[in-house]
Amino acid sequence: MRCADVRIAVSARVDGEAGPPAVADAAVDAHLRECGECRRWGERARELRRLAAALDEEG
Ligand SMILES: [Zn+2]
Repeated sequence: MRCADVRIAVSARVDGEAGPPAVADAAVDAHLRECGECRRWGERARELRRLAAALDEEG
């Protein structure tokens, strides 16, 4: 699985959306266990999502 595909799926997950049907959840999890860069990318995505939600609430 390519990092780019994993990141699309992780991004959808962070947004609470279903990932691309071609990308299996288990494969994404397996990739995240092995790929530190994608793990960090996912953490950043979650953090940005959290900050955006906080701004919305202050709105
Ligand atoms: Zn990766």
